[in-house]
Amino acid sequence: MKTMTCKQLGGPCDLAFSGETADDVINAQDQHLKDAVAAGDTAHEPARNDMKGRWKHPIKGMGWYKDTKRTFAALPED
Ligand SMILES: [Zn+2]
Repeated sequence: MKTMTCKQLGGPCDLAFSGETADDVINAQDQHLKDAVAAGDTAHEPARNDMKGRWKHPIKGMGWYKDTKRTFAALPED
């Protein structure tokens, strides 16, 4: 398992997510952003909009996705 924080994934807080793959932590972050914004947390809105944009424009979002995968791959195991 490896851990990335909301901040490392483009968000504003230090909440940490653990997962076996980069996709696990990306999905956890996606859910966290949805939950935070649904709860009225405006600090997470820009990151939520960025994340939405990535799913809508997969080619443009690919750079971020690759960077995140690379960062994840370079992390030490928990
Ligand atoms: Zn957060």
